[in-house]
Formats: sequence, C-alpha cells, structure tokens
Amino acid sequence: MSKMKILIVEDDAPLRNLIRTTLYTHDYTYETAENGKTALMIASSANPDLVLLDLGLPDLDGTEVIRQIRTWSNMPIIVLTARSEMSDKINALDSGADDYLTKPFDVEELLARIRVIQRRLSVTQTRLPREQVFVNGDLKIDYEEGCVYMNGQELHLTPSEYKLLCILSKNVGRVLTYRFISREIWGNEWESNTGSLRVFMTTLRRKLEKGGKAQTYIQTHVGVGYRMISL
Ligand code: CA
Repeated sequence: MSKMKILIVEDDAPLRNLIRTTLYTHDYTYETAENGKTALMIASSANPDLVLLDLGLPDLDGTEVIRQIRTWSNMPIIVLTARSEMSDKINALDSGADDYLTKPFDVEELLARIRVIQRRLSVTQTRLPREQVFVNGDLKIDYEEGCVYMNGQELHLTPSEYKLLCILSKNVGRVLTYRFISREIWGNEWESNTGSLRVFMTTLRRKLEKGGKAQTYIQTHVGVGYRMISL
C-alpha cells in the first residue's frame, strides 16, 4: 500500500506528539498544524490524503475548518473530539467530516480508522471505470438496473430500502447522520423520520443477512447514524 500523507491538526502538544509518533512508526508521512488557519494553509498546499482534525482549536472552530475545506476538496477528514456533546460530532459529520474519534482514544483504534479510509480510497480508485456497479464483499449493486445481489442472488428491496442502501454504498466508509440520510431520502430532516429510518434499516439488514453470510455491512453509531463498511 502506498504511503498516505496525513495532516494532524491538534493544539494539544502531548496528543499531537503521540499521534505523530504513532503515524511515524506505522510508515505514514505527516504534516502538523496547531491551529485552524495553519491547517487550512497546509491542507491546500500539501494536499494530504487524510486530515485528523481536533474540533476544539484555539482560533477557528473545527467545524469551520471542515466547511472551508469542503468548498474545494473531498479529502477525508476524521474528527478528534474531547467533547462528549453528541451535537458536536453530528455537526462535524453534517459539515462533511467522514468519521470521528472521541478522546481519549486508543492508538490502535486510530490506526484502524485510518485503514478504513485507506481501503475506501483504493476502492474508489479501482472502481472508477465501472462506477455503475458497486461491489463490496458478496454485495453487488447495479445502479443502472436498480438491482441488488447478494452472492449472485437478487434481493427484493422496497424503494425506500433501495434508496437507503444506495446512500450508504455511495458513501462507503463514511458515518452518515440520521439527519443526512433523512434529507437524502425524504428531502427534509424531520426528527420523526428517525423512527421510520430504523424500521427501514431493520428490514434492509434482514434482507442482506438472508442473502449472504452473516456479515455486517452496516454499522450503527448509536445516537449518530449509520455507516457501510468496506469489506
Ligand atoms: Ca483542542
């Protein structure tokens, strides 16, 4: 696997050093920034493959950094947050962050999340010529035909289940908030849709499991949303 270049944005020096050492010992290259303005400058000049972004920065709010990066780049962003407030994570994800880690986190978990992004990047690259067909483990979605197959067997999904599956597959590896998914499916973000969403998710999962080995394609992030993992 090619070396990834990772931008570490963290104002806490001991934590920044810990992440830097971890990345160094695992053969990643990195840049560091102690505040939001420097982060934005490095993000645009060094074009990193991934940004690890602390939300509580001395100058800009981390969410603002995400918004600014998203005006010109889709580079993956993992948010690091000490805030226990669920709404901060959700705001960060809604602003375009790909994933989050709550401090204090285990370095092994950090590395695992980085590998998820890395897999997703290589998956997107190899899939480019055939983006009409999505393949993940035994799951295959033919966007053109609107058909879903598990292990070669066609699954019969309702329009809402299909829509939900497509939103997740087109964002494979990303944690999607309830709000984001609701907006994509129903065009609004009514709180009451969370209940309907759960129902669709339950039936969708049941159908996915029935067709293949009991692999987990869709992770639940309690209070936040869902993510399709790339197998
Ligand atoms: Ca901080």
